Order: sequence, then C-alpha cells, then structure tokens
Amino acid sequence: MQTLQAVLDEIVAEMSAQADRGEVATYIPQLGKIDPGKFGIAVVLNDGSSAVAGDAEEPFSVQSISKVFTLALALGRVGDSLWNRVGREPSGTPFNSIVQLEREEGIPRNPFINAGAIVVSDILLAGHQPREAIGEILSFVRTVADDDTIVIDADVANSERVTGYRNFALANYLKGFGNLHHAPEMTLGVYFHHCAIAMSCLQLANAGRFLASAGMVPSTGHTVVSSERARRVNALMLTCGHYDGSGEFAFRVGIPGKSGVGGGILAIVPGVASIAVWSPGLNARGNSMLGSIALEQLTRRMNWSIFSSRSA
Ligand code: GLN
Repeated sequence: MQTLQAVLDEIVAEMSAQADRGEVATYIPQLGKIDPGKFGIAVVLNDGSSAVAGDAEEPFSVQSISKVFTLALALGRVGDSLWNRVGREPSGTPFNSIVQLEREEGIPRNPFINAGAIVVSDILLAGHQPREAIGEILSFVRTVADDDTIVIDADVANSERVTGYRNFALANYLKGFGNLHHAPEMTLGVYFHHCAIAMSCLQLANAGRFLASAGMVPSTGHTVVSSERARRVNALMLTCGHYDGSGEFAFRVGIPGKSGVGGGILAIVPGVASIAVWSPGLNARGNSMLGSIALEQLTRRMNWSIFSSRSA
C-alpha cells in the first residue's frame, strides 16, 4: 500500500491539473481576491503523525467550519438544552436560506446552517460582552489546535458585517420568534468574528483532532468534550455539514465533514484521523469543488469511508 504522503502528493498533482475549479466566493473582497489555483491538504493521524501537501501551511478564512467549534463550546456551556433552540435535521436548503424558519417557527433546522449558528452564537454571548464571547471562541480553537498563533482576520469580520444583509435578516427573524436573546447586531458581532478565524490546513486538521479522538486533544491529553459529544458532533457534520450537498458528500466521501465558503473542509475519520483541505473555488452548493473531489480520492485510496467494510 502507498504511504499517506505519497497519496497526498498524488492528489495535489491531480488537483493542479483540474481546469474546472469552481467559483471563488465574491460577497466580500477579501475572499474574492484569493487565487483559485491554491490547493492544500493536511492529515493528522491519531497516533500523532501528520502529512501535508500543497499550500497546506497558508492560512485561509475558515468561515462556516468555525460552526463546529462554536457548537462544541456551546454544548459544553449549556448542555443538551441547546437542542430546545436548534434542531438536528438536515435542512436540504442553502446555508443562508430563510424559508424553513417561518414554517418551523424560528427553530433552525440544525446548528450548521447560518440561522442555527447564529442561535449558537447567541448562546455563547449569554453573560458576556461580544468581545469576551469572541475571545472565548478563539481561545477554545487555540486550545483544541494546541496552537496560540491562530487569529481572527478583523478585515474579514468587518466586511461580513458590512455585507451581511441576509444574516441580519435571519437574526431579526429569529428575534421576532423569541429565539434570539440579544440584540441582532450583538449576536452577529460574535458570529461574524468566528467566521473570520483564519487557519491553515495543518492548523485546522490539528483543531479537529478532538473529534477523531473521542473528545481528547492528543498533543496535550486534555479532554475538551465527552466522547459521546464528539460522536454526536461528527453525526451532525455527516448529516448537515454540507447543507443541501450533505447527502452527496456522504455518498461520495463517506465521512463527517464541515465546509466553509472560504473553500476549506474539515473532515473526520473517527478513531483514525483529522483532515483539512482547502481549494477556494466552490461548487453550486457553496462547498469547495476540488476539496470534495480530493477527499473522495483520499477516503477511497485509504479505505476510510465510515461505510466501508473494515475487512475489505
Ligand atoms: N460568513 C458566511 C456567511 O455567514 C459563512 C457561510 C459559509 O461559510 N457557508 O454567509
């Protein structure tokens, strides 16, 4: 069998030859100016070894991938009562859709669509100033990544606010249903800032290790969430992590994954590895086009799909 490094090098070579790379998000200038030719991948195995290839050490805007970390943190704060305010079902709708919110009376389908993540931000804001809540989220991400150099890109956060009409609409709508406990601009301040966290593939794969290791950060030995909670976050990533493309991602890649509009995907092989891939061009569903293809190749070659027979 090929080594993991050889598989990653092969994937990088294959991806650099791809002509159709999808469309880079342009709703804010900071994302619109990213070179669509970028491609990076990092895999951190549970035994502590890692392999990287391509632009794996260049930071990018993690955007909605941050929703995995805010969910884990909020569950730690309020436990299962979080589920009184957010559902756990795939939405089948785009990440910024508002239609279900009316029918379902202000309870977002899941914590990974924008409406759900805004409610999670609202939970993290309780008892804090926005600045403190943002600081807590960043510090949680640094803890799980075991990396104090991770920062928030303030220009990205500011641009998100200036252009965030749909997110303001969602927050106001949630407020109208009584499912937002703070002023929309306060809650969105937290949301926009966590979306603006920047990480490289290697940093992001490190940050995801606790989900592959039953809630423990292997490099420090600290348990940050219970194994049951890590398992459940993985389940939500599988069913809801790619919005209306979640079924396709499960079908093709077969592991829990969370995408971001910056072109990153965090993917978890429970018990085995944490993977991050970055290619800025998006498919029609707003998920990284080549990132999804690369992960499909990786799980196939390593036999990592959670649906594979282990004896095969
Ligand atoms: N900041 C983006 C938004 O709220 C995040 C969306 C995403 O990454 N899918 O629209």
